[in-house]
Amino acid sequence: MTLTGAASAAYLVSGLLFVLSLAGLSKHETAKAGNGYGMAGMALALVATVALAGDDLEAAAIVAIVVAMAVGAAIGIWRARRVEMTGMPELIALLHSFVGLAAVLVGWNGYLSVEGAPAGEAEELGLAVEIHSAEVSIGVFIGAVTFTGSIVAFLKLSARIKSNPLVLPGKNLLNLGALAAFVVLTVVFVIEPNLPVLAVLTALALALGWHLVASIGGGDMPVVVSMLNSYSGWAAAAAGFLLDNDLLIITGALVGSSGAYLSYIMCKAMNRSFISVIAGGFGNEGAAATGGGEDGEHTETTAAEVAALLTDARSVVITPGYGMAVAHAQGPVADLTRQLTDRGVDVRFGIHPVAGRLPGHMNVLLAEAKVPYDVVLEMDEVNDDLAATDVVLVIGANDTVNPSAADPGSPIAGMPVLRVWEAGTVIVFKRSMNTGYAGVQNPLFFRENTRMLFGDARERVEDILKAL
Ligand code: NDP
Repeated sequence: MTLTGAASAAYLVSGLLFVLSLAGLSKHETAKAGNGYGMAGMALALVATVALAGDDLEAAAIVAIVVAMAVGAAIGIWRARRVEMTGMPELIALLHSFVGLAAVLVGWNGYLSVEGAPAGEAEELGLAVEIHSAEVSIGVFIGAVTFTGSIVAFLKLSARIKSNPLVLPGKNLLNLGALAAFVVLTVVFVIEPNLPVLAVLTALALALGWHLVASIGGGDMPVVVSMLNSYSGWAAAAAGFLLDNDLLIITGALVGSSGAYLSYIMCKAMNRSFISVIAGGFGNEGAAATGGGEDGEHTETTAAEVAALLTDARSVVITPGYGMAVAHAQGPVADLTRQLTDRGVDVRFGIHPVAGRLPGHMNVLLAEAKVPYDVVLEMDEVNDDLAATDVVLVIGANDTVNPSAADPGSPIAGMPVLRVWEAGTVIVFKRSMNTGYAGVQNPLFFRENTRMLFGDARERVEDILKAL
């Protein structure tokens, strides 16, 4: 078999491993295997690509590629080992920005080595040069939008800038105008490829990516993260066309379409319009966070009182949120679940689709703490049972249990939430009366059947365990 034939076979196997990986990641039980398939597919793809490139390259270039890969891998391993679970969303956003930047660089390189090359490689391509120019334009556009959009998402998720939506006058017209300008610039670039047009197109796409994500409020950030995941896939696919690399096209399309589908599922779960979110909060002008002032009287409780309440309960539902991740409370929460179950209490978990800071955040933490999968239910599976539940423990959740989502004037209006207030007693674990991620006050805290258990969630759960 020739080297090209062997590389094509390796690419095919990699593509299949990526499909198996996506299938594995769709269920708790198979997620670990899914990750393994993905890693094996990527390792094979890297080896095949370097071997294929090595055929045309000088030894020094191959050494440079291998050194770059080793340095990149070392940085990747170092970051991945250090990152806290709570820091994952911003790390993912940052990684998406690299894919976007890579697509921009591949696009520019494509222009400089073909249309802009002094010796005129473009002439050799004949008609195909027009297709090449269109690929450059589209690849650079998607890549630049992904690059700046992901950077804004990173800044918002890591609280380096405010998560409130930026509302420029006529923002929807600005976005539509930028899209129209992109189409015009692409036509001009295809007819007459030249550097100034490519530079303007790149600047326009960078500004559009920034504006699109800056216009989206904190509550919609989960969808933005998965949308950017999708964009990064399309950016990679565009780079695949330019580099004439089939595997990059396949992988990009897999990431692009699965990311788009995940965004669609999340939009449905949050009762948001898919189009509105990808169009930078189109039609959300009225929504603004309402701040964190007190809004009535709350009642405090103690760990000993909660332990007594749990001892008498027949059914308990735990609804974890971002605070459980911050407090690293999943271990003690799993111990509490085991202790109560041993005493004959029916303990289940209710997981909101956007609880925490990334899709599946709570499921990962609970799986890590060895909570059995069969007691971890989704919001829709548990919501109708809450009225018949004796005690709900809200551990570090806030927006996902906020009854004001039913108020049409609220920034989180229409978002389905866990109706924890229907239970006999609700215990809210948090450190203060501060608002959650969306910056919206939570009337749950002032309900008659709600008790606030202040302090770090891990310490409070450990106190309950001691008192039981
Ligand atoms: P929230 O972010 O709404 O609230 C977290 C709560 O945890 C706060 O009330 C905070 O209160 C409390 N908390 C923080 N640290 C601790 C601690 N150490 N011990 C005890 N409590 C603590 O959480 P939810 O999970 O309910 O909602 C997720 C929000 O994040 C939604 O708005 C969602 O849209 C958004 N989001 C979700 C993403 C996803 O993909 N899942 C991605 C990006 C955003 P206090 O400070 O008083 O302790």
